[in-house]
Amino acid sequence: MPMKGALLIFRLAGIRVYLHFTWFIVAALEVTRFAHRYQNPIWAALEYCALFGVVLMHEFGHALACRQTGGQADTIVLWPLGGIAFVKPPARPGAYLWSIAAGPLVNVVLFPLFTLFAFVLTKLHWKTVHPDFYQFVLTVWFMNAGLLFFNLIPVYPLDGGQILRGLLWLKVGPIRSLKAASIIGFGGAILFALWAIAWRSIWLGILAFFIFAQAQAGWRAAQNLAIESEDTARREAAISPPPIPEQQR
Ligand SMILES: [Zn+2]
Repeated sequence: MPMKGALLIFRLAGIRVYLHFTWFIVAALEVTRFAHRYQNPIWAALEYCALFGVVLMHEFGHALACRQTGGQADTIVLWPLGGIAFVKPPARPGAYLWSIAAGPLVNVVLFPLFTLFAFVLTKLHWKTVHPDFYQFVLTVWFMNAGLLFFNLIPVYPLDGGQILRGLLWLKVGPIRSLKAASIIGFGGAILFALWAIAWRSIWLGILAFFIFAQAQAGWRAAQNLAIESEDTARREAAISPPPIPEQQR
């Protein structure tokens, strides 16, 4: 089990999809909170499921792209804050960048499809004919656009922050890029915390905490990478013969 309290819901293309039990609690709270938007409240439940459907497609984008680069990706967990694809791309900046960028790319692809669908429904006057369905389609359109925008915020560990790290990796290598991204993550966590206070949002608060914890993990991982590379350098120095001193003239 990748996470305590996560239940296996299905398996697709060798990727196991888990749902954390807290999802049901938050789903029940959220659905009752926005049920008033619909004449028939069942649409509020469908809306919440559609949100996680879009999140799941995004996570599959990460997982399948990671596989394509020869990396490991066999688990996706959905929880109240969204989804996590456990991906382990090979240690190359190109493979890393593709594994991260493929997630938001799914939302980019969905954007014109949802836009076209909403446009057609508007032309067909479904706003008055089938108001609930129309509201549902419009909300899914907004959710996809929102997910795309949110994920591209360049704060590690959000996708935008990881893309930034991948780009830095090309310039300054894996260790310094991860350190830089983690520092940006710490700064971002503080901004998210302030945003949470200003909006009095528990969710933004939890998110700020999550970003902080992940930035801390990133910083530690960078330190470990640095120790490993020092060890390797030392071992190589011990194996290779000492350099022959140049003759003094
Ligand atoms: Zn993502």
